[in-house]
Amino acid sequence: MKPMKNLIKEYSAELGIDCVGFTDVRPFIRDQNIIEKRYREGKLVLVNKELAKGCSPKELLSGARSIISLAISYPFSNKKISKEGPVGRVSAYSLVSDYHKILNTKILKLIEFIKKETPVKYLASVDSGLLIDKASAYRAGVGWYGKNTLIYCNGFGSRVFLGEILCDLELEPDEPQNNRCGECTLCLDACPTGALKEPFNIDPLKCISYLTQMKGFMPHDKRELIGNWIYGCDICQEVCPHNIKRIEKDKNEFKLFIDGYVELEKIVNMNNKRFQEYFGNTALYWRGKNTIQRNAVIVLGNLACEDSAQLLIPLLESPSPIVRGSVPWALDKIGIKSANRLLSKALEREKDERVIAEIKRVLDNS
Ligand code: SF4
Ligand code: SF4
Repeated sequence: MKPMKNLIKEYSAELGIDCVGFTDVRPFIRDQNIIEKRYREGKLVLVNKELAKGCSPKELLSGARSIISLAISYPFSNKKISKEGPVGRVSAYSLVSDYHKILNTKILKLIEFIKKETPVKYLASVDSGLLIDKASAYRAGVGWYGKNTLIYCNGFGSRVFLGEILCDLELEPDEPQNNRCGECTLCLDACPTGALKEPFNIDPLKCISYLTQMKGFMPHDKRELIGNWIYGCDICQEVCPHNIKRIEKDKNEFKLFIDGYVELEKIVNMNNKRFQEYFGNTALYWRGKNTIQRNAVIVLGNLACEDSAQLLIPLLESPSPIVRGSVPWALDKIGIKSANRLLSKALEREKDERVIAEIKRVLDNS
């Protein structure tokens, strides 16, 4: 009979999983240190301190002995489709069907398959914050770390989604892969914000991808950094030679739901129902309408055109404090003459202390 590891690899390939690797359950000390350092520095933008627990797999599942790390590549297009009016960009991974559902379904099928062969105790994770995806994938030999801190899977580049199964089976670990960047520094050179000042080290508080996903008000000094991105950022992946030359597979399960360039008028005028209809099948949906509309407001400020102002003014009455509270900054950035009058009127009716502070900040400096 074939070893369990081989059976898992073969069945994963049948499921359309592109890369599979195995590692043991030793703690991820380096990653734990990074998480704790970021926590101390206030740089845990998307995750909480609880993530440090994911660095100790044995504590997550009693009897745990192995991690099965999985990666699935997704299709993407960089084509700019001409649109009327101001447009904002959306990262390629959120244009297609929500990967959480697709990869979770495959993982559940894989677990059912394993169960037919042997009893197994397990914990499955797809971007759940339970286990640390990239560190598991690296140590399991699923991919190597690029200088942009992303995992690159053999031939598929960094356009992959990662998932893991922590289990009590004894599976022989694979070897980590060496980095294949060589002398290249294209991603570091292309990053527009200085988030990648040095190889293999990202500053989340300067990374557009992190910033556009944070909840609440975006810090003032970070707003210009996001440029025209309303969700995520692909720049350091777009320039990478390993992504330009990569294996393309037919991925019928990943339907393309939206274009990478979205009219901001459409975004700022969406109600909840329309937001659900438009983004409901994508990973972007989980960030919520208010966060995406806040980003659209900031992008309108960054684009600073006449059309931007026309879209922004009605948003001074948005029911969301973080949306209407981001408008004063954007109007100020555009510099329209009527801004002070409009903001003074908004101030008279405003009740939210945070929005009042945003309005006063602009009025006091004008
Ligand atoms: S995602 Fe964008 S902002 Fe973040 S490191 Fe890459 S290029 Fe820089
Ligand atoms: S762009 Fe160059 S340095 Fe950056 S991850 Fe790709 S190969 Fe490595």
